[in-house]
Amino acid sequence: MLVIGNWKMNKTVAEARVFIKELLRERFDKKCSVGIVPSFVALHIAGELLEGTPIGFGAQNCYFEDQGAFTGEVSPLMLKDLGCKWCLVGHSERRHIFGETDELVRRKAVALLRHEIRPIVCVGETLEQRNSGKAISILSAQLSRALESLDLGNEEFVLAYEPVWAIGTGMVAKPPQIEEAHNFIIEHCKRMHPKANFRVLYGGSVTPENCKEIAVNGVGGFLVGGASLSVEKFSSIIRFCI
Ligand code: PEP
Repeated sequence: MLVIGNWKMNKTVAEARVFIKELLRERFDKKCSVGIVPSFVALHIAGELLEGTPIGFGAQNCYFEDQGAFTGEVSPLMLKDLGCKWCLVGHSERRHIFGETDELVRRKAVALLRHEIRPIVCVGETLEQRNSGKAISILSAQLSRALESLDLGNEEFVLAYEPVWAIGTGMVAKPPQIEEAHNFIIEHCKRMHPKANFRVLYGGSVTPENCKEIAVNGVGGFLVGGASLSVEKFSSIIRFCI
């Protein structure tokens, strides 16, 4: 299992330092890979404190160019320089608040792979799309466009199924919905890239209380938002995954 904590726009550098030091006091087995994705400003301190530990870190977003006149953006080259292992792309907040398209997701994934940073491509349907029976066709369209002509080799490629209606709402997809979505994502990605291996994380209001029932067939770990802001809650989820 892989457990990634997405801090979103939370924690100052001082708060990040306290959190990471506390997390490092916990003892986790190597069977569960763990990572945090803090805001850009806390990446440097994360790199300093996590160096040589089993806990990885990454970013929540990037642009697809290496450098240039792109005010306010951060490139994969810069993330590599900081030691980032992962980078989220296509998180629903990026798609819905900042207008990120599947084509932009694809270009970011290409740029990240070029710098050997592992993209975590997030996909998921809105409640309206689910209620009108379109969940699977939305996933299919998002994946087809975002993963088109990516050079994945035979490395493990990580995706996250995050139903938009479950993110930060306390609503969690039901186990059969999760199983159906995860199995569809894996099959669809395999059809597109037969040689690659895929891991699909579930994200959307994951807590220590519900992670057990969410861990159905096809779930390769969790992308945790709100609950990853607390060392206690995040550690309990990690402990469940071991
Ligand atoms: C997320 O940010 O990816 C997420 C799943 O958030 P939450 O766990 O708060 O729903």
